[in-house]
Amino acid sequence: MSGASRLAGKVAIVTASTEGIGYAIARRLGQDGARVMISSRKQHNVDAAVQQLKKENLAVEGMVCHVAKKEDRQKLLEETTTKFGGIDILVSNAAASTHFGSSLSISEEAYDKMFDINVKSTFMLCKETVPEMEKRGGGSVVLVSSIGGYTPGPMIGVYSMTKTALLGMVKVLAPELAPMNIRINGLAPGLIETKFSSGITASEAALEMTLSQIPVGRLGKPEDCAGIASFMVSDDAKFITGENVVVAGGQTSRL
Ligand code: NAP
Repeated sequence: MSGASRLAGKVAIVTASTEGIGYAIARRLGQDGARVMISSRKQHNVDAAVQQLKKENLAVEGMVCHVAKKEDRQKLLEETTTKFGGIDILVSNAAASTHFGSSLSISEEAYDKMFDINVKSTFMLCKETVPEMEKRGGGSVVLVSSIGGYTPGPMIGVYSMTKTALLGMVKVLAPELAPMNIRINGLAPGLIETKFSSGITASEAALEMTLSQIPVGRLGKPEDCAGIASFMVSDDAKFITGENVVVAGGQTSRL
């Protein structure tokens, strides 16, 4: 099926989608025919993203949603169903990385914040969205985790632990959602050029070391994640659920 019609008639929510990987995924789902609800914490970021995507003639709307706020998540689901008539696709992409250093040096507050945003909010959003998908006769979920969920990154141990939890969440939920005709898969990016990763690649030495681990010889771009997300939520992947796919330029072969 051609990209432009692959997701025709589908409604998608992508969290944290005003820049970076989430934005690229939202854009690609729109290009592939879905109507997409954009969201992030800041209204001005939402406005800018929506304006840009509308300029490209994509069917998007936007609103503020901090994923750790239950009332924001509820409004996100309400607004999406009001504006678009239902929900078929959820891409849970939001995350926080609140600590850089040895794991045992993390404060309780920073630990709680990461688990709250990266793990609990992801799980709750899935739980809250499932009834809407059931009303449509099925759906598809993608959780954005990280290569760090498999092999913890140095200095980002607790963040890596939260991403390992997402790999497990995909496995736990897949059999529970399958009878409802809902699939769930995970997308685990390697190092992708975004604001989120800019600290890791800031120094020449760190960049050189990182590149030496990536067989294709470059950092990823957000668009490298977008096509795989669109494939995962499409009917082309209708026999795929409970899988986590690493998008990392071959880096796992060097780990
Ligand atoms: P990014 O470019 O920094 O973009 C972050 C986006 O998230 C922005 O739109 C931001 O907008 C929004 N956001 C931040 N906190 C939020 C919250 N609590 N609720 C809702 N929206 C929020 O980040 P990225 O690199 O694309 O990362 C996206 C995902 O990929 C994350 O799950 C990250 O862990 C994962 N990942 C990234 C890499 C990488 O190398 N970049 C590697 C592995 C995994 P506002 O400021 O307006 O909220």
